[in-house]
Amino acid sequence: MKVSLADLRAQYYELKEQIDTAISEVIESGQFSGGPRVARLEQEVADFCGAKHGIGVASGTDALILALEAYGIGHGDEVITTPFSFGATSEAIARVGARPVYVDIDANTYNIQVDAIEAHITPKTKAILPVDLYGQMCDRSALQSIAEKHNLRLIIDSAQSIGASQYGIPIADGVDAATLSFYPTKNLGAYGDGGMILTSNDETAEILRSLRGHGTHGHKYHYVRVGYCSRLDAIQAVVLENKLPLLQGWNDLRRKYAHLYNTHLEAVAEQSNGTLHLPLETEDNCHIYHQYTIRHTRRDALQVYLKENEIASEIYYPSPLHLQPAYTPYGYREGDFPISEKVSNEVLSLPIHPELTEAQIDFVAEHIAKFQKISVPAPSFQRSQI
Ligand SMILES: *Cc1c(COP(=O)(O)O)cnc(C)c1O
Repeated sequence: MKVSLADLRAQYYELKEQIDTAISEVIESGQFSGGPRVARLEQEVADFCGAKHGIGVASGTDALILALEAYGIGHGDEVITTPFSFGATSEAIARVGARPVYVDIDANTYNIQVDAIEAHITPKTKAILPVDLYGQMCDRSALQSIAEKHNLRLIIDSAQSIGASQYGIPIADGVDAATLSFYPTKNLGAYGDGGMILTSNDETAEILRSLRGHGTHGHKYHYVRVGYCSRLDAIQAVVLENKLPLLQGWNDLRRKYAHLYNTHLEAVAEQSNGTLHLPLETEDNCHIYHQYTIRHTRRDALQVYLKENEIASEIYYPSPLHLQPAYTPYGYREGDFPISEKVSNEVLSLPIHPELTEAQIDFVAEHIAKFQKISVPAPSFQRSQI
């Protein structure tokens, strides 16, 4: 049985007729850039995520860059973030000229250690940019109190968490901005690149609309600031609009599969002598499992074993950002963030998309249990201490 990490084709066939029609309508209309279709999607996504405004842009990376810039963050500023993320999170901070200041992650949720943040705040700190890693929200209320107390902006990289909630509160509620990516394999994926900034701040929304369109205001050729060319085009907007009503159901299926993995593997993990860890979904969170990520002390061997059995898996992420060549100029060294460093050697993301079947989840779980038996023999007797 072959088990893949994503099946975009199967998802397309589920919606083929309506998506083909919607794309044809855009082509017939000749309005590829901006217009009512993009505006409609922006409002629908903003409503879904608990924000007043949605500003569509060309990618999730641009969403981060523009959000930082809209809040005036740039040269000489510091932004507190996590070293355990996709490169775009640090890239955006560096791109606007600010300095990424890393705080290590929690060993169970892989999100930033919120209670370690305050020790890293300096007079130069302007914002906190945490990530809702793998689809589980970082602690919003604790982050909000730190941001308020120190007068910092709270911008969340929510590229992996569209549809998640915490105490029933959606991702963009109560933060200065949350950013989304519509990269094809994200929970809500376009047929190409796309992203969005969500904010409830009217003034910031206006700056963002100006920034994405060459810094114009009021008139097409009136430039009030140096901007970007960063548009979410109408074809992507209609693809996303047709998928959005199904997102909740898809996320529910991901949750169901995650819980099925847990059911199969809880006993295996318990008897693993700490070699296997399952993801922790904290009580207050509705995790949407963009990834179902386990940890194994023999991760590379496990990945090879799964591959031999036609089971795909991926490492998100094999090296923390503070040790990557692009970010070493900021002066960090090996040993600075021990949890991120340890975890990057052990994480493995298993297939979790909604196009899978329960039989496939069972199959993957069985192979992990089997690997555990052959690779980590159970202690057969207790050696007597001499
Ligand atoms: C996907 C992703 C991004 C960037 O999205 P793009 O649309 O590819 O630019 C940023 N941060 C995280 C955590 C992501 O997973």
